[in-house]
Amino acid sequence: MGRMGNEPSELTSMERRALALMPHPDDMEILCAGTLIRLIEAGWEVHVATMTPGDQGSPDKPREEIAAIRRREAREGALSIGAASYTCLEFDDVRIVFDNDARVRVAGMLRTVNPSLVITTSPDDYMFDHIITSQLVRDACFNAPMPNYATREGQTPTSSVPYLYYTDTMEGVGMFGERIVPTCFVDVTEQIERKSAALACHASQRAWLLKQHGLDDYIGAMKRWCARRGQEIGVAYAEAFRQHRGHPHPTRDLIGDTLGKRG
Ligand SMILES: [Zn+2]
Repeated sequence: MGRMGNEPSELTSMERRALALMPHPDDMEILCAGTLIRLIEAGWEVHVATMTPGDQGSPDKPREEIAAIRRREAREGALSIGAASYTCLEFDDVRIVFDNDARVRVAGMLRTVNPSLVITTSPDDYMFDHIITSQLVRDACFNAPMPNYATREGQTPTSSVPYLYYTDTMEGVGMFGERIVPTCFVDVTEQIERKSAALACHASQRAWLLKQHGLDDYIGAMKRWCARRGQEIGVAYAEAFRQHRGHPHPTRDLIGDTLGKRG
């Protein structure tokens, strides 16, 4: 299976292709947009996908209506950072399950992009959409290179098992409240305003949080978290990741080596 156990020191330009496959619209902007912007600045082709169109993300709009709005916001957010594509896999909010239908659809997404680097949410996070997405993406990394693993027609197997990174959890803790220790940090100080502008594309969520909590803190909360991660490596703003280093993923710290600092 392709790159299994093999550690190329340099990726060719064809291989500098990343996929951020996140559960919901706005997860990418909150958790890894700065890193994606830096990858694009370094010559990478970056693709963004969400599992759902965020169809539960409204107190008063019906599902189809809010989904249409949020699909558009997610596309705007992805394009604003310079992503090569945005795809919604059209799962439903809070209904993502680990079954064969979902496994095949997620593997198909990997085959469409054929990335050498995949970023998704943490396997230990605050809600099940994030946890199950993480499991599905990890599973797809394993299955997508296998020639006999059938997905949609026209989707060819990926070249290899990619580098896999998990984004920060909510408040940087696991399900028992224990502190998550990142394996790499990316300085996003110079990218923080573009990251904020990408998050601002999600106007419906900002408005909802404003209504619900009475304060316009959507972008402020994101910046405070990046500032806290930044403090850990002595910069103004950072994003943090954990790399999946278990078999059969390549274990060299690709993001750390390309962009990063270790805490
Ligand atoms: Zn989410």
